[in-house]
Amino acid sequence: MSIPCEVIEDLVSLYKDRAVQPKTASEVNAHLKSCSQCREYYRIYDSIEYRRVASTLKPPPITTTEAKYAVLSSRLRRYRKRLLAGVATIGLILTGAVVVLAFLLNRTRRHSCD
Ligand SMILES: [Zn+2]
Repeated sequence: MSIPCEVIEDLVSLYKDRAVQPKTASEVNAHLKSCSQCREYYRIYDSIEYRRVASTLKPPPITTTEAKYAVLSSRLRRYRKRLLAGVATIGLILTGAVVVLAFLLNRTRRHSCD
């Protein structure tokens, strides 16, 4: 172990980011293989760093095509609802008109028979 543990701890972040010289990387690598304490430190650093990076990652940006599609599909859904409500209202009005007409026709027929 040529590099002291304290120095390895300082180098861990650079080593992980591959920001060290190849010779330093191989020495850190050799130290991590032989020293369980630094290996554990590296493992913990690695998991904390992974969580930190993962938490700062943003969801993939929505493309303009996807945004346009979302707007259009929501408009279509609203239009479909309004259309259904309109058809239902017209159906109700027509049914009422037919009932009233049938009632009136039946009344005039009875009156004409008398
Ligand atoms: Zn060590």
